[in-house]
Amino acid sequence: MRINCKSLLALIALLTLSFGPQATAQDTKRSLQHIEGDVYRFQNNFHFAMVVVTDDGIVVTDPINANAVAWLKDELSKRFTQPVTHMIFSHSHADHASGGQGWGDIEVIAHEEMRKHVKIGAVDTAMPTTTFNDVYSFDLGSKTFELTYLGEGHGDDLIVTIVRPENVAFVVDVVSPKRLPWRDFPRTNIDGLIAQIKVVESLDFDILLPGHSVVGTKEDATNTRLYVEHLMKEIKAALDAGRSEDDILASDITDAYKDWGGYEQLRDLNVQGMIRWLKAKS
Ligand SMILES: [Zn+2]
Repeated sequence: MRINCKSLLALIALLTLSFGPQATAQDTKRSLQHIEGDVYRFQNNFHFAMVVVTDDGIVVTDPINANAVAWLKDELSKRFTQPVTHMIFSHSHADHASGGQGWGDIEVIAHEEMRKHVKIGAVDTAMPTTTFNDVYSFDLGSKTFELTYLGEGHGDDLIVTIVRPENVAFVVDVVSPKRLPWRDFPRTNIDGLIAQIKVVESLDFDILLPGHSVVGTKEDATNTRLYVEHLMKEIKAALDAGRSEDDILASDITDAYKDWGGYEQLRDLNVQGMIRWLKAKS
């Protein structure tokens, strides 16, 4: 097992070298940070996943990619004696879900819509072994895992995983605390996105562990929803008043959010995405 893992890492290092300097291991920021109780946060550059260490096995969430899995596998074997027994997918988008095969023969849990995305090759990862519709929960060691489907919005298979007794919620893409939503709301039904965030707000948890950005609380979910609703309301009013896209882009509608992460890079894209969404609806 150990030899296999090392040979895999050596192979990855070799492949990385042959694909040029941008992909070297030194450029990838990885860490496993303790959050609360037995809950940890795995970072792979700008993507984050949750790891929960129970007496009866380790539960990992989004694999992110094959190299990330290889690194985390090695790190967990150095720090803990328990094997990884379960993987939970937050959703099927390739930037979070790729490379799951690297965990081998373990239980893989996801929303049932995820199977079709894996089947058609939209994401290269492990096929879920256990799927569910609305809610699903299981116990492992002294932990309880509560999984809740968020409905359609950002994708059609997004779920939240809450771990008890730590009361940590792993929330991906719909809420990135103190950070603007990603680009121009790609692949997103924005009305659905707002409804998805409302489901997150309705759940019982203390710590919001996001797939991007800093660790937060439920208040960050509310603030993200208020931002999206504010953007929608202001842009709808501007479009109804006949204002042009350039005029809306030059306006001060998002000034209250200037201190949020990604403002410089994402603000115009957020505005353009919302204009496109509202025009398509009307
Ligand atoms: Zn996504």
